[in-house]
Amino acid sequence: MLGEYTVVDPSDERNSLLERIANILQETCKDGKKKGLDDVLQEIDLEAEYDKGLLRNSDMDWFLLELLNEDEDEKDHTCPLKTMIGALSKRRKGKEIDINPLVSILLGKNSSPNETIVTPFDKMQALVKWLREAKGHPEVLEGDGSGMKYRKTPFENWGLTVKTNNLLTFVPTTKIGLCNLVKWAKTKNLKVRAAGYRHSWSDITVNNDQVLVSMLPIPKAENIPSLATEIDENNELQGVTLLEDTITEDGVEKRLCKIGAATTNEQFRKWVVRNAFNEKTETWGDWWTIPLNVILVEITFGGSNAPICHGSGIKTKTLSDLVAAIEFVNANGELQVVDDPEQLKSAAGSIGMTGVVTSITMKLDPLTYARMVPLKKKLALTIPPPAGFDVPDGIDMKGVTEEARAEAFKEFVDRCENDYYVEYFWFPLQKKCWINNWKNNGNPADAEDYPSPAKARNQAISIFLSGVLNSTIWPRLPGRFQVKVTSAFAMLVLPERTEENPIVTPLIDALHFQRGIHNMRVRDMEWEIPIPGLKSDPSKPDWSVAQKAWWAAIKIFYQRYNKSNSDVPMRMPLEMRITGDSNIHLAPQNGNTHGTCSIEVLTTQNVDNDEWQGYMQEVADAWTNLMDDSEKPIHPFKNENGMMLHPRPHWAKDWANLTVKGVPIRKYCKETACTEQIKLYQSGLEEIAKSGGYTVEEADKVFSTELSRDMFSK
Ligand SMILES: Cc1cc2nc3c(=O)[nH]c(=O)nc-3n(C[C@H](O)[C@H](O)[C@H](O)COP(=O)(O)OP(=O)(O)OC[C@H]3O[C@@H](n4cnc5c(N)ncnc54)[C@H](O)[C@@H]3O)c2cc1C
Repeated sequence: MLGEYTVVDPSDERNSLLERIANILQETCKDGKKKGLDDVLQEIDLEAEYDKGLLRNSDMDWFLLELLNEDEDEKDHTCPLKTMIGALSKRRKGKEIDINPLVSILLGKNSSPNETIVTPFDKMQALVKWLREAKGHPEVLEGDGSGMKYRKTPFENWGLTVKTNNLLTFVPTTKIGLCNLVKWAKTKNLKVRAAGYRHSWSDITVNNDQVLVSMLPIPKAENIPSLATEIDENNELQGVTLLEDTITEDGVEKRLCKIGAATTNEQFRKWVVRNAFNEKTETWGDWWTIPLNVILVEITFGGSNAPICHGSGIKTKTLSDLVAAIEFVNANGELQVVDDPEQLKSAAGSIGMTGVVTSITMKLDPLTYARMVPLKKKLALTIPPPAGFDVPDGIDMKGVTEEARAEAFKEFVDRCENDYYVEYFWFPLQKKCWINNWKNNGNPADAEDYPSPAKARNQAISIFLSGVLNSTIWPRLPGRFQVKVTSAFAMLVLPERTEENPIVTPLIDALHFQRGIHNMRVRDMEWEIPIPGLKSDPSKPDWSVAQKAWWAAIKIFYQRYNKSNSDVPMRMPLEMRITGDSNIHLAPQNGNTHGTCSIEVLTTQNVDNDEWQGYMQEVADAWTNLMDDSEKPIHPFKNENGMMLHPRPHWAKDWANLTVKGVPIRKYCKETACTEQIKLYQSGLEEIAKSGGYTVEEADKVFSTELSRDMFSK
């Protein structure tokens, strides 16, 4: 026993070697005199051990390379990862290398903002831990017969809202390995759940005493700032393969593309950019892309499909709607593929209940180029307050005439209906909004990689520093000060352009216009509010519902603030996007044939939990009780197919303890808002289970969580 880690098989030569390396590092940390990795290199001939097969390339990934943030811009910066690889290969060729600069790169890396003071000792300890994880499990074997890497560690999500006890956390790299893991877990009566970057706030990932499959190496999943790495060709759960198959939808020929479930948005983004940009001619050409995505690049494809995530734009549905086939390890511990369109309505957005997803085949659109003209505009003239709205004190209404309001509303409607991407941000106390609406009609000849690698790096650093501030200095300062500074800074750095000076960029870059978001933990509640038809013409959407939801949230902020300027639980933006509906049964947008107002409130991590809970509840109450102009409830209403539509929460966001009209939210979703959809989902699961040769009950036994059993099981 070493520290909290057990030597799995002490007689195993490889494990002993790893243990020895770990001990040297540990000792190094203790006396503070030695030089860490240098000592390892002096005492152990890593090269020879590697040649004997006792060390593997993936160990290097594990304890060194994953620690280092690969620099995006290979031209402008020295890349620590490359330096490290270069150094290691020099050694392999027998050349002397100076390990110290590499160690200092390592030590220079910062860790989570909650542990901002990271000493070299902490860093070494982390290294030691990770080294130990390189040991394989004696019974759960990968495809090549080696033990699967695992570690006993608690699960904690990125938003710090969910924490479990110590879980056996496996990091597979092969599909056979994953099948073996599920079979093994069944013999131990353990449930298996998967996680990507752990970005979901709600309790949808894993419970105490279950087995966790970390689709990403643990340091990559846990570390802040984020660690970007290239696709590992040897990892069967990662990768992007363009298939020959095409599919025609809405008159557009789409290309199928198989994407490993552990592949990240950043890896996919780079794949698109590298294939679309001709370095020799420095021109952009034809390629393929997904038409929508989550803004954040630190997301796995498995992770964003499971809870049915979305992007923006009335013509876009959800990521799960783009799925043409999904491959997963099922309850028999076998690979199963679902490509039947009906079954996909359940399988493509099943929150992990069908099994551990290994790959997703998605329908890609021909690559187009966004033409972005982000604007900053007076709050009351961005989306104007509804007619007769009691505008709270604090909103600048100077010059906001009836005509100007009418004109602004017309523009809002036009954008909702005609822009490719529709997104509004209001940072609390700011006089202006940031409008990120754009059309997808840019000329590739004008395109640039946006944000440029250097800008992306700056964004990542500045957001990381904001996160550090939030967990160190900010909590000692009044909330209103935090809001003022954070909001002003955010508005300052967000871009503003004109029609004459637009940002033209490949669609995939435009979808991920902001980088580094992972580097600052936040809280976030989001609702998908169905847009009804106009009373005057039910065939047309009534966008005033989005306007009402937007202003309801602003009013709640000011009502509190105007009473007491220390009452500021919302310290990050109110954000609203417009999306279409969804064919996926469990999608909160399902049935919203006139579109969806996807609206969310965010705050910083340092806000008191109870305060934030109270604020979320107040906003949720407003969004689930919107009234029309004659003071009648807008929701629920029936769509043209007779489906009753209600506001529904985004499954991955912060909704756990809310109530709706006094009813606990799980009950509200189960018995009111999603009843029909859950039934359809369950029938789909039955078909899927039948095709796979098991029952839904058996799948539940292996893959369910407390939440899924409560909400989605029969
Ligand atoms: C800063 C931020 C911005 C965001 N922006 C958006 C946005 O613009 N739009 C949007 O819709 N959402 C957004 N989200 C929510 C986010 O997209 C989801 O939380 C998403 O699930 C996170 O992906 P992940 O890789 O972290 O998955 P995780 O959170 O780790 O997992 C999510 C779920 O998927 C399951 N899962 C993961 N991998 C697998 C697998 N291989 N097989 C089976 N099940 C699996 C997990 O068990 C869990 O239930 C945002 C979140 C954050 C933190």
